[in-house]
Order: sequence, then structure tokens, then C-alpha cells
Amino acid sequence: MNLKKTNDMKCPKCKGEFEAITFKDITIDRCTNCHGLWFDMLDKEDLLKLQGSESIDIGDEQVGMKYREMRDIDCPKCKLRMVPMVDKDQFHVKYESCTQCYGTFHDAGEFRDLKEHSVLERFSSMLKTLRTNLS
Ligand SMILES: [Zn+2]
Ligand SMILES: [Zn+2]
Repeated sequence: MNLKKTNDMKCPKCKGEFEAITFKDITIDRCTNCHGLWFDMLDKEDLLKLQGSESIDIGDEQVGMKYREMRDIDCPKCKLRMVPMVDKDQFHVKYESCTQCYGTFHDAGEFRDLKEHSVLERFSSMLKTLRTNLS
């Protein structure tokens, strides 16, 4: 059971309110102001695998860019300082991670970015498999 209380969470970057967004039974929190996304542990990985999940990331990339360099933030759940991270495949995707609850915060547009990449990757590995099978 997921009993998280979204209501008392504030966006760690702009202090806006979060709203709960559900995509195929996975609930994440999105800031109503900067549209940054908060993912609980593993929710991001699960969502990346789902088709169409980029629709949760409705934010303006320009706004995301503005908040991207803001990296000294506290976890909205645990109130602990988060660790600045860089995506292992896409170095320009910078996000923050909490070492206690493993939640992650992504600026607007970053999830779409990650999603696009993972689709491309899947496509190229599919091609590779095809080629191997054909030769
Ligand atoms: Zn925000
Ligand atoms: Zn935390």
C-alpha cells in the first residue's frame, strides 16, 4: 500500500505545491509551479519502461533549464540534503537523489529526455538483434 502524503510536500526548488499524478498505477508527484518531477525509489525506472509515460512530463524545458543549476536542495520528504547526480547515459541530465529514501527530483523536460533516449536505445538493440539473426 502506498500511503504517502503528498499534501505536505513542497517542491525543493521553487517551493511550489506538488500534485499527485498517476500513470498506469504508478503515482509520482509533480510540482504545480515549475513542473519538476519527484519520483519515489524505483518509480522512475518503472515508468521509463512504460510506453507513453513521457506524458507526465508536461513542463517547459526552458523553465527546467532555469532550475537545473540549482543543486543544493533538501529532500521534500526527509528534509536531508540531496546528492547531485548525473545520468549515467546522458550526462546533461542532472538530477538530485536522496540517500535516505532514494527519491529523485528531475527538472521539467528531463524525464522526456531520458525517455527518448531509452526508446532509441531499445530500438538500436532491436536492430542489433535483427542483424545478428539475419547474418
Ligand atoms: Zn517547483
Ligand atoms: Zn528523502
